[in-house]
Amino acid sequence: MMDLLVRNARLVTVNEVKMGNLAVKDGRIAAVLPLAEMPDALETLDLQYKYLLPGAIDDHVHFNDPGYTWREDFPHGSRAAAIGGVTTVFDMPMQNKPAVADAAIFAQKKAGLQGRAYVDYALWGALIRTNAAALADLQAGGAIAFKCFMCDPGKDYTELRLDEIEQRLQILKKLHGLAGFHCEDYVMIRTGEAERLAAGQIGRQDYLAARPVEAEEKAVYDILRLVEKTGGRAHICHVSHPQVAEQIRRAKQRGLPVSAETCMHYLLFSTQDLLERGTAFKCSPPLREPGAAEALWEYVLDGTLDCICSDHSPSAIEEKEETGEKGTFGAWGGISGVQSAVQLFWDFVVNKKQASPVLLARCMAANPAGIFGLYGRKGALQVGFDADFIVMDAEQEWEITPASLQYLNPFSAFCGCRGKGLPVMTFLRGHRICDHGRICGPAEGQWLHSMEESEEKR
Ligand SMILES: [Zn+2]
Repeated sequence: MMDLLVRNARLVTVNEVKMGNLAVKDGRIAAVLPLAEMPDALETLDLQYKYLLPGAIDDHVHFNDPGYTWREDFPHGSRAAAIGGVTTVFDMPMQNKPAVADAAIFAQKKAGLQGRAYVDYALWGALIRTNAAALADLQAGGAIAFKCFMCDPGKDYTELRLDEIEQRLQILKKLHGLAGFHCEDYVMIRTGEAERLAAGQIGRQDYLAARPVEAEEKAVYDILRLVEKTGGRAHICHVSHPQVAEQIRRAKQRGLPVSAETCMHYLLFSTQDLLERGTAFKCSPPLREPGAAEALWEYVLDGTLDCICSDHSPSAIEEKEETGEKGTFGAWGGISGVQSAVQLFWDFVVNKKQASPVLLARCMAANPAGIFGLYGRKGALQVGFDADFIVMDAEQEWEITPASLQYLNPFSAFCGCRGKGLPVMTFLRGHRICDHGRICGPAEGQWLHSMEESEEKR
């Protein structure tokens, strides 16, 4: 007897969309079946040919918990994720008090999140100046990856110089650890910003000019060179521009162990949005010139950019003000997007680009699961995997409004976006956690660690 039979589904796999049924037993996918095969089950759900997608994995969110919980917290962030069809998030180690720099802090953060998450979660560890000796214990403690800044990261974190990055890549290679990089060149950005602030040039255009695409290209060039030299793996975070993606495409062609992500805001918006509509559109790297997004899409389509993540980076609305002495430079840089990424990407891929929904199964599930060592448990509609999935109603029209957002601070650059195709139900390990925009049930999200690590431990 199965626990749940999902009937008459359009199953979205990494290769195809096929009609079928899916059976769940003990929280896992027990069978993927043709339409005619219907094993007995305690509960049956007839999808009437709606799409069934693997639960999305957002490899890059900032839930700010503990420490900065006026911006977001785990209950709000993870409820938003569940409603948006995201069943697993990887939370970042900065904008945490303290930053997640060693195994003790990691364990403390993990303990504090118990019973407060509505989706499954893994935690990034820090990769900062002071914690080289802590990396082995962090990896053994279950850090999903390690986040490194090449530019000024803000108050609670330190960036690394290239010689330090080289040494850390060597350490992580031995540990089978993965480093993720915020790629913007420290010197270029610091100099550009200092010059403008000194000259009183503090407007939106000045902010953009101080963070040129060349700074991102230079940083990615440096990382790729160190990957080649050390053989350590690197994940390039939030690629904002096709020229940067082209560098990564060539590196992959040369066989370098590099992966990359981008976000919906880089695919949908441009500098014009920041200039005309304000700091809701401020992020770093910044939005790029009109036309860049169009070209960036080609690199999603050809597989250069492996993952679509949100880089959900919320703030209080007052922190978005640009009326202080640093003008636009002083406004919070970050966009909230964990709830809207799946519907935006679906609408973009399926309706705007007339591409196959298999891209969602790849970029939002199988690829992040594979890169971060969870594939086999998470990331696909396959027998033995956790029964994490989304029912997608391709005909459902939507508009993103503040009232629709579950964030602690319910505003976003995506408010006003409209489209078609909405996750209407979300299942986590076989349990329905969300039904037509409403959370059902308690916070039963579980902490996850990389499976690569667990095999080594055995
Ligand atoms: Zn981020």
